[in-house]
Formats: sequence, structure tokens, C-alpha cells
Amino acid sequence: MKILTISDEVIERLYSLCSNGHFDDVELIIGCGDLPYPYLEHIVSTLNVPLLYVPGNHDPMYQENDPKTYAEGGMNLDLNFTRVKTFLVGGFGGCVLYRPNGTNQYSQTSAYLRAFKMLPRLLLNRIQYGRALDILITHSPPFGIHDEDTQAHQGLKAINWLIRIAKPRYHFHGHVHFYRRNLDASETDVKGTKIINVYPYKVLDVHH
Ligand SMILES: [Zn+2]
Repeated sequence: MKILTISDEVIERLYSLCSNGHFDDVELIIGCGDLPYPYLEHIVSTLNVPLLYVPGNHDPMYQENDPKTYAEGGMNLDLNFTRVKTFLVGGFGGCVLYRPNGTNQYSQTSAYLRAFKMLPRLLLNRIQYGRALDILITHSPPFGIHDEDTQAHQGLKAINWLIRIAKPRYHFHGHVHFYRRNLDASETDVKGTKIINVYPYKVLDVHH
């Protein structure tokens, strides 16, 4: 299954690539956060395939009655699950807390408490499908992988834990932009999970 993954930065040329048929074989769009919702909405309405996304720290807090806080036509996958074709997908939004009262920001401990909420469904998936998860999408990177020492770009340990117990084949994240030290670190394999920083966009072919 071909997936268009996008994150963190509006890439103007995606608009023309979308309408030129460049992504005609794409069957799913995944947004890893920090993108204006009109950008997501434009891409989903042009490609007309499902959109799954998680919120980042520059996105507003989701509110059911406020359309400015979610992407129309998309599914907010924060602490949520879905199935696309034969792929089990789960999401975890936000990043580490670096500013008091920051939106979608969590201390390492509260991120764990959030991740624990995903446990029942992961166990159910394992019983029903023989595996907990195929694709994990998050905004933050895991701790120590593609992250940085600066407080704002430190990864979440709860995501390492999720990867350890759910063993997804793929983990897509954003939040960390490529420059300086992490220039060539956008893909890392950890015990059968391919961890990919999708910033600013990537077309990825996923398999079972
Ligand atoms: Zn971010």
C-alpha cells in the first residue's frame, strides 16, 4: 500500500503534484502533526483517499464543536485506532512538555499514562489479528532516536515503550526537522520496526 506521509511544514509544490496525478497510486494519507488543517483538507479533497493524522504541539487542542481544531475529511488518530485495508494503524499525538501549559505537550510521565490507555486495544488486536499493530503514527520521535538534546525536541520514552510492546512494522513521526546533526538520520530499524521521520513529506510503500 502506498502512503503519502506529511509533517511539520507546508510544501507548496505538493498542491500541484496532487492535482497533476503524481500521487494517483497513493491509497492513504498520514499527517504526523504541526500542519495547518486547511493544508490537510486540501490534500485529502484532491486525492480523495482516507486521511489519518495526529496533532502536534503547534496544533490546537481538539474540540468537537470547533472545526478549526480538526481536519475535515480526516480522522484524528490520537490515542485511537483504525484499520486501512489489512493494516492496523494506531496514533499518539503531541510531544514532550517544554513550555508550561503548552498545547499537546506532555511530561514523560503523563505521556506514559496516555500510552497505557492504548494497551487494551493493542491486546485485543493481538487476540483478534495475531499482532497488535502494523503502523504507529506519532508527532514526537521516540527518546534517543531521531531526537535532539534540546528540551523541545527530546523524544518521548512512552513511544519507545509503545514500540516495544506493540512491535509495529512501521513507525512514522515528525516534529524534528532535518538540519545539523540529524541530517542523515531519518530512518532507523529497531527490532523489526522501521522508524521513519517523514518531515516534510515522503511517499512510502508498506507491506506486511
Ligand atoms: Zn512539533
